[in-house]
Amino acid sequence: PHLSFRGRRALVTGAGKGIGRAVAVALSRAGARVTALSRTAADLESLTRECPGIESLCLDLADWEAVEAAVGAAGPFELLVNNAAVAELQPFLEVTRSALQRSLDVNFGAVLHVSQIVARQMIAQGVQGAIVNVSSQASKRALRDHAVYCSTKSALDMLSKVMAMELGPHKIRVNTVNPTVVMTDMGRINWSDPQKSAAMINRIPLGKFAEVDDVVNSILFLLSDKSAMTTGSSLMIDGGFLVS
Ligand code: NDP
Repeated sequence: PHLSFRGRRALVTGAGKGIGRAVAVALSRAGARVTALSRTAADLESLTRECPGIESLCLDLADWEAVEAAVGAAGPFELLVNNAAVAELQPFLEVTRSALQRSLDVNFGAVLHVSQIVARQMIAQGVQGAIVNVSSQASKRALRDHAVYCSTKSALDMLSKVMAMELGPHKIRVNTVNPTVVMTDMGRINWSDPQKSAAMINRIPLGKFAEVDDVVNSILFLLSDKSAMTTGSSLMIDGGFLVS
């Protein structure tokens, strides 16, 4: 049975490409009123051509003032998917300040900030809300060249738990999805080397990477009333990587 989000208002960040875009499309097709936030205008234009009901916000999530104004004016929302992130892989000894700052700002700071804005509105409106933060298997396992990425995703998992604790009394649920590699642009940039990807696939009991739809389905489940008693949890979409 398909989930229905008829009439629900949803904000999806990083919705121009990849997983975020697929989530925005799936929510819109399931009846939600979707606002898609991303950085590149051309991506948002093609998304709204594909799905005419979707509203778009073209913003850099690292710009706090712009986010405050635009997200504040676009709300309120009942559903929030914090999906945008950057993955700039560098050996630990070569991590740059700019990669660190950018990753902290987008992968962690923006999730905190957007969630504050959206949750305050949820509370003011008295609506039951659901927030899904897109984390990664990298939050729970050390991966070579991922010092900054693993750390920001680990911080995101913990942020989600504290949010779940503090927002629970307001009937707002907060969960994460933690996928293994998905062959989006981000996945292709970092995992196209056949030797590197084979080594990862060998550690995944199901023997393959995740598909975009695997991640979309889990996000929709956690946004829906089918997971009404689930908050503060991390749903692995890792083919068993974590237990291997
Ligand atoms: P993509 O790089 O394919 O897409 C990311 C989207 O986020 C793009 O539309 C991008 O816009 C947008 N975005 C990035 N930074 C900003 C910003 N500062 N402000 C606004 N929008 C921004 O990534 P995926 O779809 O692969 O990843 C989605 C999520 O899934 C991320 O949180 C990622 O960490 C996570 N994930 C991905 C995995 C993978 O292997 N692909 C595995 C596990 C987790 P633009 O291109 O214009 O910058």
